[in-house]
Amino acid sequence: MKKIIIVGAGTAGTLMANKLRKVLSVKDWSITIIDKYKIHYYQPGFLFIPFGTYSEKDVIKQKSQFIPSGVELLYADVDRIDGQNNQVILVDGKILDYDYLVIATGTQTRPDETPGLLGDNWYKNIFDFYTIEGALALHKFFESWTGGTLVVSITEIPFKCPVAPLEFVFLADAYFTKRGIRDKVKIIYTTPMSGAFTKPKATAFLGNLLKEKNIELVPDFYIEEVDNENKIVRSYDGREVAYDCLTVIPMNMGDEVIARSGLGDDMNYVATDKNTLRSIAFENIFVLGDATNIPASKAGSVAHFAGETLIGNMLDAINGRPLSHSFDGHANCYIETGFEKASLIDFNYETEPLSGTYPVPVIGPFSLLGNTRINHLGKLAFKTIYWEFLLKDRKLPVSDKMSMAGKNRD
Ligand SMILES: Cc1cc2nc3c(=O)[nH]c(=O)nc-3n(C[C@H](O)[C@H](O)[C@H](O)COP(=O)(O)OP(=O)(O)OC[C@H]3O[C@@H](n4cnc5c(N)ncnc54)[C@H](O)[C@@H]3O)c2cc1C
Repeated sequence: MKKIIIVGAGTAGTLMANKLRKVLSVKDWSITIIDKYKIHYYQPGFLFIPFGTYSEKDVIKQKSQFIPSGVELLYADVDRIDGQNNQVILVDGKILDYDYLVIATGTQTRPDETPGLLGDNWYKNIFDFYTIEGALALHKFFESWTGGTLVVSITEIPFKCPVAPLEFVFLADAYFTKRGIRDKVKIIYTTPMSGAFTKPKATAFLGNLLKEKNIELVPDFYIEEVDNENKIVRSYDGREVAYDCLTVIPMNMGDEVIARSGLGDDMNYVATDKNTLRSIAFENIFVLGDATNIPASKAGSVAHFAGETLIGNMLDAINGRPLSHSFDGHANCYIETGFEKASLIDFNYETEPLSGTYPVPVIGPFSLLGNTRINHLGKLAFKTIYWEFLLKDRKLPVSDKMSMAGKNRD
């Protein structure tokens, strides 16, 4: 009996467990998936919790619900991966052998990496919304807040879901408008990027939206420290931004298991071939999702699209063939813009987000770099699609490869 181990039962690990079990016989292949937690969070839903649109029950399910029969689900903390000896070593000392390994350990927020973030005011007037605890604490705070300066700050790149902080400020604008206190809330958005986003067309589109909504953009801002006493965020180049409420996207880093296993870069991301999704260090280790160092967005949609390449290449490897499948970096993200509207971007390693329609030329129904109600409905539908289709590897009517059909080239 040959053995596959998947480390991490989040978005990427769960969908790979479903894909692998469908194509490998139970007689010849055992598949084990390991995670330290029992709860699966729908992380995109964290965005809506501070504004009261979603509650805890919308984002929480048991991981076991999504693991197919014939896959062993093991709740354990992985201490180390020994790639030389094909072994996974658990914190309790147990050792598991594998023939092939999938690393899907994701990325975590690390507020401890920024001086002043985890001080006495953490979850009093300094928050994150990338964790369930942070999102719930912020909701409580916003409910009774009477106004002041709301600063939303990205500490470091890369971080998962690169559009989430923009969505957050757009939703904050709408939320405080609806509460009738928008004139009492100044919204400032600080980012280490040189504009609202990374690529020119999306940067121009999203930058204009920030302006329209009277949200101040502070670019090239790398946070050095948070001064709790004076309620100031300081950048490395000495600039200061004062806040009454600070909401941060803390530094994102891969899990410590990657560092302990000698598989990671300085941010604990696994060195991975961006096309084959095989680890650079070991031929029988593959990587999916936020744990990789590939230059694609860290997003559930990317894990979903890349999963198609990965299953193809794992089958190639298992059958002794050269790896024949290539991931193009395809990412697809709805961007909530407030007042029941949203935008959509679709791009890959080579092609920046362009305007147009998606997935069908002219018909859409979704509008790329547009701002429409139907895009917003698409974003809301993503929750059901995530739980019912994406995790369970049920077929969706979208291609894993980015298509130029429907995109405007100018
Ligand atoms: C606020 C927010 C909004 C987002 N919005 C979107 C969106 O609109 N669209 C989109 O596509 N994506 C979005 N994302 C990103 C998306 O949620 C992630 O990219 C996706 O979940 C990554 O999947 P993953 O499997 O790589 O990591 P995860 O789903 O985080 O899973 C990693 C798993 O590995 C386990 N693990 C780690 N280390 C160990 C260890 N040592 N031992 C055992 N288990 C371990 C963890 O417990 C975890 O269960 C958003 C994320 C956030 C936070």
